[in-house]
Amino acid sequence: MKRISILGATGSIGQSTIDLVRRDPTSFQVVALTGGQNVARLASDAISLGAELAVTADESRLGDLRAALEGSDVAAAAGETALIEAAERPAQWVMSAIVGAAGLRPGLAAIAQGATLALANKETLVAAGPLVMAEARRHGARILPVDSEHSAIFQALRGEDAAAVSRVVITASGGAFRDWPLEDLAGATPEQAATHPNWDMGQRITIDSASMFNKALEMIETREFFGFQPDQIEVVVHPESLVHALVGFCDGGMIAHVGPPDMRHAIGYAMYWPERRALPVDALDLAAVGQLSFRAPDLRRYPALRLARAVMEARGLTGAAFNAAKERALDHFVAGRIGFCDMCAVVEETLSRLSAAENLSDAACTLETVLRADHLARERADRVVEERAG
Ligand code: NDP
Repeated sequence: MKRISILGATGSIGQSTIDLVRRDPTSFQVVALTGGQNVARLASDAISLGAELAVTADESRLGDLRAALEGSDVAAAAGETALIEAAERPAQWVMSAIVGAAGLRPGLAAIAQGATLALANKETLVAAGPLVMAEARRHGARILPVDSEHSAIFQALRGEDAAAVSRVVITASGGAFRDWPLEDLAGATPEQAATHPNWDMGQRITIDSASMFNKALEMIETREFFGFQPDQIEVVVHPESLVHALVGFCDGGMIAHVGPPDMRHAIGYAMYWPERRALPVDALDLAAVGQLSFRAPDLRRYPALRLARAVMEARGLTGAAFNAAKERALDHFVAGRIGFCDMCAVVEETLSRLSAAENLSDAACTLETVLRADHLARERADRVVEERAG
């Protein structure tokens, strides 16, 4: 039995992971589950899966979690230190599915114990790619990508020589506003942005899909995880969301990964790797699909892609600042303080002010420097938003 922990167990990826565990209960022993606000779900999953430990990120919810776990053998804990302890608890496989930069430290803790890290939390690599990859090498920990595009690239590269890769193309659905007139985007609401045409995901990543900040994060994640150069990484809009990524080789051939938009494929691939096992994913009926279409992304509609190129070139702490500014801009959009198109403007202005004050691109990437850049970027982004409002 493989000992596994699921960080972010109450979210969209966490629940899909739990679905796969329930379908194969003799293969996995659940060590720790973590969540945030949804302590009822956390407790009920921890009890039914026989977990050793359930942790809520919110210390004020510890009483509720204890009450929900009463009478069971599951231990309860709360707060950031407890999250890290959950990730450190001996396990062979840890799912990193917390949303946002909050996933970084627990992810590093799982790496430090040498566990295989199934990485859905793309912010980990965007904020601290060089640090995370170096720590994985130092501790002999394997990182397996769970983002569907990165799982697709990983699968296409299997048995291939990475030096023979000429380009990588990641696809984007185009999000909720793909076909909206450009002039309507400024008035788009958070509710409208949180509707995805193809994928069923958490609220934040769905809004990030509409703005393509999600794809921007994925471009940076591709650079950090696989080591490709920025000019080798392309994005194409693919409304059907069936081709997840394509890898192009020096001989002109391309290998595409195709499948239905169901995250249980990428999660299951990472759970059973290096084996392939049957998964509860529908077979594609290609004749019914009929055609696959691709188009170049319009940078006026998706300016976040332009910012991603600059971040990939700069590296250092620029990714940490970019991600933190993006998270705050998203918070302000969801709270109704800024409009949809303002998010990119806020991130760009924050990066420009911070780069003028701090040497982001040449700075060493340590946990301390990453957390500091993250903190400064959040402060600056809030100030930019205040100034725009005033
Ligand atoms: P959700 O919002 O659905 O779930 C997020 C999880 O993180 C929940 O368990 C939530 O707890 C927990 N959480 C929220 N805030 C904190 C915090 N500050 N500290 C600790 N835990 C916290 O997100 P998704 O499952 O959609 O996404 C998770 C990650 O996976 C993201 O990085 C996303 O980009 C990535 N990803 C997601 C995909 C998808 O299909 N959903 C696809 C590819 C990547 P609670 O809900 O109890 O508050």
